[in-house]
Amino acid sequence: MNERYSRQVLFSGIGKEGQTKISQKHVLIIGAGALGSGSAEVLTRAGVGKITIVDRDYVEESNLQRQQLYTEEDVAEKLPKAAAAEKRLRAINSDVEIQAIIGDATPELLEELVAGINLMIDATDNFETRMVMNDVSQKYNIPWIYGACVGSFGMSFSIIPGKTPCLNCLLRTIPLQGMTCDTGGIISPAVQMVIAHQTAEALKILVEDWEAVRATFVSFDLWRNQYTSLKMSKAKFPGCLSCGEERSYPYLDQENMTKTSVLCGRDTVQIRPSSYGDVSLEKLAGQLSQLGYQVKGNPYLISVEMGAERMVIFQDGRALIHGTKDLLHAKSIYQRILG
Ligand SMILES: [Zn+2]
Repeated sequence: MNERYSRQVLFSGIGKEGQTKISQKHVLIIGAGALGSGSAEVLTRAGVGKITIVDRDYVEESNLQRQQLYTEEDVAEKLPKAAAAEKRLRAINSDVEIQAIIGDATPELLEELVAGINLMIDATDNFETRMVMNDVSQKYNIPWIYGACVGSFGMSFSIIPGKTPCLNCLLRTIPLQGMTCDTGGIISPAVQMVIAHQTAEALKILVEDWEAVRATFVSFDLWRNQYTSLKMSKAKFPGCLSCGEERSYPYLDQENMTKTSVLCGRDTVQIRPSSYGDVSLEKLAGQLSQLGYQVKGNPYLISVEMGAERMVIFQDGRALIHGTKDLLHAKSIYQRILG
């Protein structure tokens, strides 16, 4: 063990043995926004063996206030968050294997990625993906750590299959769905507090100190100076479709996934084609420029100015249409450009 991890090894909860365990583990982080970039940085510095990070978006100026891995240069280049995160994480710690995936965390992708994963961290901004993570966790027996924040408020809960209630169980007692859209803005300390809870739990799970894992659902409001920690042992629901005896993992059913969605708290619609196939961005950019559109791009995406709207197209054919919340209008724009 080198000097790099000496302070963490000195900490009695981890020690030499714990550090070795950390270095052999593989963590999957879903989302590379505020929570994802923070968790990824903490775990990369801690020397986790491998980190896979999935994100569907690219870096924008409004991210810089709280998404700690990104710089003005990433904004200027419109880098996908996963690609920008990969670059920064590699610069922070070359010991850690970083796998970055630019794409939507669909059930199909998560089931493909799950082999060899020891832990998943929730850093997504939407409830649909959390429910998919929850089903993947139960089906493949992988712990995951729920986390969410909005305004000055945040919360976290560690879900261990076979031990704790799952997210689907919790919904019967806590109305979590309303907590996903950041329409009220957000302050960075609320993000950092959730990251601290999620990554502390992550370290406990990675060193297999199961006794130390928090059993309560924690929530706080840093502006109103409130902190609550609720016991959840009675929340486990025997009839739960995700973790109960008659489980069917309803969120892994592709039919439940929407193809078109308005992104959380933004004037942006995402359109995902029903069949995936790589788009030749270079060719498309050439065609669109010839038609008189103003096109900018990088190896991962192209951005097309279209009057009131702006459309960003990724290699997998997925598109973000900025400047509208109208799904039909967004679809017509998509069809005009991609057929
Ligand atoms: Zn359950």
